[in-house]
Amino acid sequence: MNHSTKKIVIAVDGFSSCGKSTMAKDLAKAIGYIYIDSGAMYRAVTLFALRRNLFLADGQVNEEQLRAELPEIRITFVLNQEQRPETYLNGENVEKEIRGLEVSSRVSRIAALDFVRAELVHQQQLMGQEKGIIMDGRDIGTCVFPNAELKIFVTASAEIRAQRRYDELTAKGEKVNFEEILHNVQERDRIDMTRAVSPLRKADDALELDNSHLTPEQQKEWLLKQYNRVIAAL
Ligand code: C5P
Repeated sequence: MNHSTKKIVIAVDGFSSCGKSTMAKDLAKAIGYIYIDSGAMYRAVTLFALRRNLFLADGQVNEEQLRAELPEIRITFVLNQEQRPETYLNGENVEKEIRGLEVSSRVSRIAALDFVRAELVHQQQLMGQEKGIIMDGRDIGTCVFPNAELKIFVTASAEIRAQRRYDELTAKGEKVNFEEILHNVQERDRIDMTRAVSPLRKADDALELDNSHLTPEQQKEWLLKQYNRVIAAL
């Protein structure tokens, strides 16, 4: 496929475990764009906080300490042998660890902190300066790149999303419980939508994609069509 010389910014937002990252990665590959998983950045900060014992017994975060230690955190993405980006925290590959339930059940607390968001949003905006980027998350179309040329908002029912995450973790050999995962998905939706800073919401100019009953191929086709439409209109 010939890659267009016209570069845009593509923002993909939506609920947890909607398959946003898979679809964003596939599209990035197809059109030769850089893919950034902004959720991985919040996850990496959460892992950092866990390792530094910055979670209090009641699940709250020691904010003062995290604020002081935030400048020590360096998050990067490195392509692995299969050309898939993996997340590094201060030079260490943490890709697997940030996907586990320990991080998943705490990440929304970290993502609700204004000083964490300000720092990560700043880093994300720097990554998008040259365009030719597709980023997925919760606030990409509303806050990180409000002028993105293409914005997608992905949804699917909580049960379907929990099943997908269950299958994903089971395939990796992890012993997990479906009810626990469903609870985690619903709880993250609740915290993400009700937080004071940049709550999860569809940008007014985003296209909504409910992929509850779409195959990955159908979804890919739809997405490419949207991309080609936007590029043709430039
Ligand atoms: O996308 P993923 O599920 O890996 O994101 C983990 C968590 O990070 C989300 O549940 C959400 O709380 C937070 N997040 C966010 N803003 C983003 C990306 C992720 O608040 N742009």
